[in-house]
Amino acid sequence: MRHHNRREFLRHTAVGPLVCSLAAGWGDLLGAVPQAARAVPRYDLLVKGGRVMDPAQGISAERDVAIAGRRIARVAAGIAETEARQVLDARGKLITPGLIDIHVHVYDGVAPLAIPADPNCVAKGVTTAVDAGSSGAHTFPGFRKHVINVVDTRVYAMLNISVVGQSTLSPDNSHGELLDLRYANPKLAAKTIEQNRDVILGVKVRLTRNIAGDHDLEALRLAREASDAVKLPLMVHIGGTASPLPKILAVLKKGDVITHSFRGSPGGILDDNGRILPEVRAAVGRGVNLDIGHGAGSFSFDTAEKALKQELLPGTISSDVHQYNYNGPVFDLATTLSKFLHLGLTLEQVIERATANPARVFGFANGLGTLREGAEADVAVFHLAEGDFEFVDALRAKRMGHRKLVPVATVKAGKIYGAASIPVVTL
Ligand SMILES: [Zn+2]
Repeated sequence: MRHHNRREFLRHTAVGPLVCSLAAGWGDLLGAVPQAARAVPRYDLLVKGGRVMDPAQGISAERDVAIAGRRIARVAAGIAETEARQVLDARGKLITPGLIDIHVHVYDGVAPLAIPADPNCVAKGVTTAVDAGSSGAHTFPGFRKHVINVVDTRVYAMLNISVVGQSTLSPDNSHGELLDLRYANPKLAAKTIEQNRDVILGVKVRLTRNIAGDHDLEALRLAREASDAVKLPLMVHIGGTASPLPKILAVLKKGDVITHSFRGSPGGILDDNGRILPEVRAAVGRGVNLDIGHGAGSFSFDTAEKALKQELLPGTISSDVHQYNYNGPVFDLATTLSKFLHLGLTLEQVIERATANPARVFGFANGLGTLREGAEADVAVFHLAEGDFEFVDALRAKRMGHRKLVPVATVKAGKIYGAASIPVVTL
């Protein structure tokens, strides 16, 4: 009864609305939450007026996206602004699920090639990023403590089969993490994964000769052992290997990932005549995922053009953004996706390969990579710029594209990240 009287009192005083909003936060303490005079908006945020593209649901149309708390509440046309506390004005923009980049390096300060996660991921529309092997069993606890637990980007890891992760290789020390195979420890990798299954998604192995020497197949076998022990995917970095690609592919199973798929030769997916190796088609046929992992040396327009002409499309498009390419030629995932628009994929195919497809590869349980009602409220907003844009691959080959995805706002778990460059109205 006391609460009721208090509510009546607040309604009839000039300071009512202010006191109400303060009191609302103390709802648990006060019992019944006082109602403000105006209707309480049912949504916390409304992303309004853009073209929603959500390949997981087959949506490509003018829609508004309403968010309550950290969940997508509704996707529909014409949701009233008065129903939300805050409105992100996305008129003329493209609205997609928050992007998922399955190959980044964000163990900033430990792996020499790594960069800070947030300015390169969530600030660029990537709400979920998978660090591809920057950490190994010995360095993963630090990765969890100093990166995963504290950054705004949702970061997962593929654990490097080498206990030292990617801490050894740099431009000043060209010796990779598997030159001494005694550092590849499948039992310790499996133990680390079992202890961190909530954030580790699989095992990573890099097989280039300056990383795995002439024993690439043995390194691969040890990585396979760890991956099988925990029943999670194996991600293999190909190219420049001592062993030919078909011998490497023979070890891969359904659910595994080949990254750097569209690199130039040697060790790539094409034979000397530019034809897709039959072993590559066979691997894709049994459910191995071809990932891009553009990187500083691992994406070639020439390879991509030849592969696409032979109707071999990548399953996922990732950036492999790191210290030696984030100022070009990679810049970010949006630029990598734009290169595929130039190569002839539709906008829908490109967005699918950075949302629905990576979500399927890793079986994310919490509804990532889609704007389905009830899913985690991760949303990316892009300006699809038209003009003449020069794109550069990892071999410095250039192409002139005419469309470019420019990230303008990111919502992660219901919250607008940083300063969106489009209007945000708080009602
Ligand atoms: Zn990488």
